[in-house]
Amino acid sequence: MTKLLTTLVLSALLQSARMDPVATLTGRLELEKYKATIKGLTQFGDRRQGTDRNRAAVDWIEEQLKSYGCANTERNHYEYTGRQVDPARNRRAATAGAVLPTPLTIEGGGRPRGVRVRAAVNLDPELQPDLALRELNAQPDMPGPREEVYCTKIGTTHPDEMYIVSAHMDGHGYGEAANDDGSGTALVMELARIFSNPDVQTDRSIRFVLWNNEETGEQGAKAYVDQRQALQGKEDPPGSGRYPEPKWLGMIQHDMMLFDHGAPRADGTVSKEQRLEADVNIEFQVSSKFAAQSQALAWAFEMANEKYATDYPAAVSSHMTNTDSFQFQEFVASISLREAERGIQIGLGWDPHWHQPTDVFATFDDKDFRLGLNAAQTTLAAVAQLTGATLKP
Ligand SMILES: [Zn+2]
Repeated sequence: MTKLLTTLVLSALLQSARMDPVATLTGRLELEKYKATIKGLTQFGDRRQGTDRNRAAVDWIEEQLKSYGCANTERNHYEYTGRQVDPARNRRAATAGAVLPTPLTIEGGGRPRGVRVRAAVNLDPELQPDLALRELNAQPDMPGPREEVYCTKIGTTHPDEMYIVSAHMDGHGYGEAANDDGSGTALVMELARIFSNPDVQTDRSIRFVLWNNEETGEQGAKAYVDQRQALQGKEDPPGSGRYPEPKWLGMIQHDMMLFDHGAPRADGTVSKEQRLEADVNIEFQVSSKFAAQSQALAWAFEMANEKYATDYPAAVSSHMTNTDSFQFQEFVASISLREAERGIQIGLGWDPHWHQPTDVFATFDDKDFRLGLNAAQTTLAAVAQLTGATLKP
């Protein structure tokens, strides 16, 4: 009798999975594929903007997107005239890890609590102990033209409307930018792969964007907004059924998805293990013009996580800051997914590998990578629901 019941329950579950395309699509995400894509990105070192290793990474990402079937890749062009780091002038000892007084307020808002340790960008190439990686990261950045790549899944009934699913592909700190932001970039690439499968259809469009110049102040995202905002929803050429810039319905950014080991202890150290309470943090900015819409979008993601993510829950909070979605928050519903809250957690030093030579693939274990995978499940499920994804028989 028990065996019969188990069989009945199992076949009912299988049946509902067959009938729920969101469950089927989410099930196509694989930890090993996600890790392999992060690993692929690390072959370009820290991918600092304005260098050959950054340009090679943009080319590699575009090749991958094409190979997934997200075929019509495009590039946004802009100019960045600043210098990020001149090693000869700016080299100084890394000071990350020192215990500091906890501030009363922090960028983005929110109330900092607990121990704060200094979080700083490593500017000294010689602090990278891996000599091959030090060599790979040796070229300094130069001002000049910049490019960032994107591709689009065209909606069948509303090709003129889209969600933007994005991450930044540049990094710094003389590591491999494995977590910041190889983990977010790989998440977006995995979603592009799954949504580009020939059996997947969506009512609305989805644009997968890998921003450049985030680490210098989101100039890549800003250039995109400046150049393309006015093109939204316009058919070009008229009568063609083509919309080079579908109307923005929401902007979803992913930045540092792996490491949630908890708060620093009194001595400034952080646990070596992913904490059992690890979660995917979904942030919107309560002081932005689209706060109400952004909040609604954030809760849609939280519910998608609850239903479809396998291991880790999601938490919503209201102080999104220092991320590419900031450039969109006055124009459209905008959220950011991250391993921890950017202001009161990352800002207090919760991630000791942030912008450090230790942000390399080998630093992270499967519990870390699995948090990133759960963020991918969350975004994939939410975006599949929002765009009306179905599977062709
Ligand atoms: Zn980042």
